[in-house]
Amino acid sequence: MHTVVVVGGSLAGLRAAETLRQERFDGRLVLVGAEERLPYDRPPLSKQLLAGKVDVDQVSLCPSDRLAELNLDLHLGRRAVALDLAGRSVELDGGERIGFDGLVIATGASPRQLPGVPPLDGIHLLRTLDDCLAIRADLDRVVTGGGGVVVVGAGFIGSEVAATCHGAGAGVTVLEALATPLSKALGEDMGAACASLHHDNGVDLRTGIGVSGFHGRHRVEGVLLADGTTVEAELVVVGVGVKPNTDWLASSGLEVHDGVVCDSTLHAAPNVVVAGDVGRWHNPLFGAEMRVEHWTNAAEGGMAAARSLLAGVDAAEPYAPVPYFWSDQYKTKIQFVGHVHHADDVRVVDGSVDERKFLALYEHAGRLVGALGFSRPKLVLQCRRFIAERLSVDEALSQLT
Ligand SMILES: Cc1cc2nc3c(=O)[nH]c(=O)nc-3n(C[C@H](O)[C@H](O)[C@H](O)COP(=O)(O)OP(=O)(O)OC[C@H]3O[C@@H](n4cnc5c(N)ncnc54)[C@H](O)[C@@H]3O)c2cc1C
Repeated sequence: MHTVVVVGGSLAGLRAAETLRQERFDGRLVLVGAEERLPYDRPPLSKQLLAGKVDVDQVSLCPSDRLAELNLDLHLGRRAVALDLAGRSVELDGGERIGFDGLVIATGASPRQLPGVPPLDGIHLLRTLDDCLAIRADLDRVVTGGGGVVVVGAGFIGSEVAATCHGAGAGVTVLEALATPLSKALGEDMGAACASLHHDNGVDLRTGIGVSGFHGRHRVEGVLLADGTTVEAELVVVGVGVKPNTDWLASSGLEVHDGVVCDSTLHAAPNVVVAGDVGRWHNPLFGAEMRVEHWTNAAEGGMAAARSLLAGVDAAEPYAPVPYFWSDQYKTKIQFVGHVHHADDVRVVDGSVDERKFLALYEHAGRLVGALGFSRPKLVLQCRRFIAERLSVDEALSQLT
């Protein structure tokens, strides 16, 4: 392999590039990224950076001297617009083509927007550092001048934004279409446990309610709800999920179906691998196809994809991680490991939901498949290992310390 092109200049793409160099790939390494900025970390965008507790330069993923050591051919602020699989080239906006022997697809995901949102100031999505800075400026305005914050969507990112805005001193209302937030990701009972954090902290969480519109002249003044009522708002953050960035692959011949479909070694085609939020792969540990939208999978998947590319499609190892994510809300660290199936049995085995400090285990077909912790970091990480070892819940319980 002489030239490897990595498309996507964020966590998965950077980890792939670093791993290629660590594994002694010394050919031309091209990194194409649609954002102008050098790779930065997204989790602080709904937490410390939004709260003003860290600065922009503290969220960098790679100091410039380390980036220089990677000897990358950097194309930042450039978007890949097409992939020619047979001709082995990527086309960039502006028409330039870059040929490759190996390709890493790491284009991540973009936030979904609600239909029919008017072009009013003060209504935001959150994915990029610039989105975060724009929200922060409006949050400062709300905190000093009064007015409310509305967060649409009580998923992890929406809930973190709500917690951060509340911590800054703003009055916050969270609107959630589901009867129980996060019930699809964690099940009804654990979704309700997450919802309780908003109630505990005096944030007005309204569930089972849709948004029917917004009002305001130049700037948003309120959100209209499906039941005919209005919530006043100077700042609205919409957090209703993401969609994988696959438009540029539409005519490539790769299989795309809520993500780029790849095999268990992360290959979407010979010499083409996929990493991070954009990839959908078969995880042999759970016998399930999955696409994971969390930090650890982007980091670990980026490394695994690079190794897989170098090994080649026939010799590559399956990528079989136990997915992990965390979310910091108010004073609680929520952590989840594993993969939830629809029919899982969930048991609280340590602490209690009422105390907001507990460990809950998810069981499927006799096996431990997931664990959710509220402020139980040590136990959750032990469970990650137990799930990888395919232990039953009883076996895991006997080994938890
Ligand atoms: C506000 C926020 C908070 C989060 N907090 C947590 C958390 O607490 N815990 C957790 O586990 N996870 C968290 N996450 C999720 C985590 O950050 C993501 O899973 C991770 O960023 C995914 O990395 P990625 O490299 O796959 O994709 P992305 O980070 O989406 O990066 C993809 C990059 O590719 C670029 N790109 C897209 N299309 C093209 C193209 N055609 N050509 C060139 N470049 C392109 C994009 O501009 C982007 O820079 C959070 C995410 C956000 C947004």
